[in-house]
Amino acid sequence: MRKYVIMGVQGSGKGTQAKLLADDFDIVHISVGDILRWNVQHHTKLGAQVRRIMAAGELVGDDLVESVVQERLNVHDWNYGFLVDGFPRNARQAEFFLESYDIDGVILLELADEEVTRRVLARRLCSQCGVDYNLLGHRPSTPDTCDVCGGKLVQREDDNPEALASRLRDYHAKTKPIIELFERKEFVATVDANRPIGEVQRDIRDQLDLPA
Ligand code: AMP
Repeated sequence: MRKYVIMGVQGSGKGTQAKLLADDFDIVHISVGDILRWNVQHHTKLGAQVRRIMAAGELVGDDLVESVVQERLNVHDWNYGFLVDGFPRNARQAEFFLESYDIDGVILLELADEEVTRRVLARRLCSQCGVDYNLLGHRPSTPDTCDVCGGKLVQREDDNPEALASRLRDYHAKTKPIIELFERKEFVATVDANRPIGEVQRDIRDQLDLPA
């Protein structure tokens, strides 16, 4: 059983790195942002509660995200472990998490704010199948069109300069301080995310003693 948390500023590649680990080690990738976005797209009651907050790049209330994480983990479909992405994001969430779950380690992806801005504003995703693109590196072969399903590529509603500034402020003020809390209690693998995807992944596996 392997249980991890992956942390890092927006655009640091948390989702990409988490998927690579999840696929190879059969661990369940639990992205709070993805769960919330699914609810917004499917017009659920939860989606209606969080839509505006997310679009502005602000943090959703702690009670709400804590219950999302708890409900998702209570499904207990993670026989080989889980990798939580996007949670915790502040001290209260970190305390809740550490009290409720034992983890084997934290993966911390580090990236400078200037590179975050460059990456996030170039990020696109398919409005139909959800595949991610980035106009800096992983471009579609036909502009604005998904290579997989032909769907139209769009920007995430919160990938705009104003919402990004708000997310960066929250990251530095609220999320970064909890890394110190984790460092006191857990193994933290700090990884330079300003490198090609494969290199970052190798570094993570190396530090977590996972097979390459
Ligand atoms: P992400 O995909 O991780 O960037 O999350 C997208 C948005 O979902 C964030 O900007 C927040 O509005 C909301 N969100 C995701 N995770 C959390 C969390 N742990 N606490 C509060 N809000 C969150």
